[in-house]
Amino acid sequence: MRIGFIGLGNMGAPMAKNLGAAGHEVTGYDTAEVAVEGVAGAGRMQDAVAGMEVIVTMLPNGGIVRTVHEAVVAAADPESLIIDCSTIDVESARAVHELAGKKGLMSLDAPVSGGTGGAAAGTLTFMVGGSQAAFAKGRPLFEIMGAKAVHCGEAGAGQAAKICNNMILGISMIGVCEAFHLADRLGLDRQAMFDVASTSSGSCWSLNTYCPAPGVGPESPADRDYKAGFAAELMLKDLDLSQTAAEKNGAATEMGRHARDIYKAFVDAGGRGKDFSAILERLGQS
Ligand code: NAD
Repeated sequence: MRIGFIGLGNMGAPMAKNLGAAGHEVTGYDTAEVAVEGVAGAGRMQDAVAGMEVIVTMLPNGGIVRTVHEAVVAAADPESLIIDCSTIDVESARAVHELAGKKGLMSLDAPVSGGTGGAAAGTLTFMVGGSQAAFAKGRPLFEIMGAKAVHCGEAGAGQAAKICNNMILGISMIGVCEAFHLADRLGLDRQAMFDVASTSSGSCWSLNTYCPAPGVGPESPADRDYKAGFAAELMLKDLDLSQTAAEKNGAATEMGRHARDIYKAFVDAGGRGKDFSAILERLGQS
């Protein structure tokens, strides 16, 4: 397939590289100067859009996605499929679907889970919103860039799934950090806390797979001085998205709001760039 890829950052570059390595003809565009192995560089965005069968975008936020998709829809071939893999607000996702639909183009919102490691290894999980036909067309590409693709429903359903998942993640990471912090204050050995909770009803991904306590559990960013991994400011971005959605749709997400406030305080106090599990360190300083 001829694929245009817009946004070759930490996530987009390895994703585009994997598509190229699988034999697709990939043309990439980014406002920054980026070279990606197996991906032809486009000097102008239009060169990564016109004549392409699929156009993938992987961009920082909803505002940028809306602007870029205006240009993409204007330059795209009538048969092309547009896939946005960025994490953005549900409203912007629906707006860009509508934009594509007006021109008769197929589109998908397909945010991902799995981080830069998953992007490099081609093991991302895609959460996808859009029509069955669009999903069927995009699926072979999800299979290259990821290990799993779930069709969650119509336009915006992928973003809805993403922000609900990450709200669980933010809340559960804080819960796990607070449990280690309390264990410390009670004189309970961290390894003992892990051994019990990771095989009891406290078990969860934030504890078992991504343990925030250095030297305990499988290797994680905690063992690398909390070098991100998944940066605290990205978690804050996602919790802002879930809270904005909750407020607009009348959902009661008290814990989500509290988690957002905790990450905001952490980022404002110098946590930017640190892994989101470094909340444990901050509690230790309290
Ligand atoms: P990034 O900042 O590394 O990459 C974004 C890229 O978009 C940059 O290279 C930037 O130059 C480019 N860009 C910005 N405006 C542009 C424009 N108008 N036209 C073309 N290119 C433009 O960010 P990232 O970590 O790759 O994240 C991308 C998206 O993926 C975000 O929505 C993020 O929330 C989401 N995400 C990130 C992770 C992660 O672990 N990094 C995990 C899951 C989802």
